[in-house]
Amino acid sequence: MAGEPQDDCLFCKIVAGQIPATVVRETETTLAFRDINPQAPTHVLVIPRVHYPDIASLGTAEPAVAADVLRESGEVAAEEKLESYRVVFNTGSGAGQTVWHAHAHVLGGRGLEWPPG
Ligand code: IMP
Repeated sequence: MAGEPQDDCLFCKIVAGQIPATVVRETETTLAFRDINPQAPTHVLVIPRVHYPDIASLGTAEPAVAADVLRESGEVAAEEKLESYRVVFNTGSGAGQTVWHAHAHVLGGRGLEWPPG
């Protein structure tokens, strides 16, 4: 069923506490934890607890939870005292998506070039 945990999903396992993560914020609907392979001094992933493969499918099915992910991304940036930062949703393998559970990357603490690679 849409939104249900998937046995083969890494981030569902983190939500379930089956795989450890360095959690920085938690809400009823979201979890924020440090990326295991940080690309910037701050690199935090914000995920919905429910499983959808990408941000578009989450936004269509559960727009309030997608809004929670966005709000929490801003809260992470504030907690990390980031004046400038980037929120990224890689969508599709050609854009670098490797985990098929919607997630925002919150990146900051260094200069970020535009356009991204
Ligand atoms: P994507 O490539 O946009 O799908 O982002 C997936 C992110 O998950 C990558 O930046 C990975 O470094 C990160 N990642 C993979 N496994 C773990 C983990 O176990 N804990 C935290 N981050 C992870």
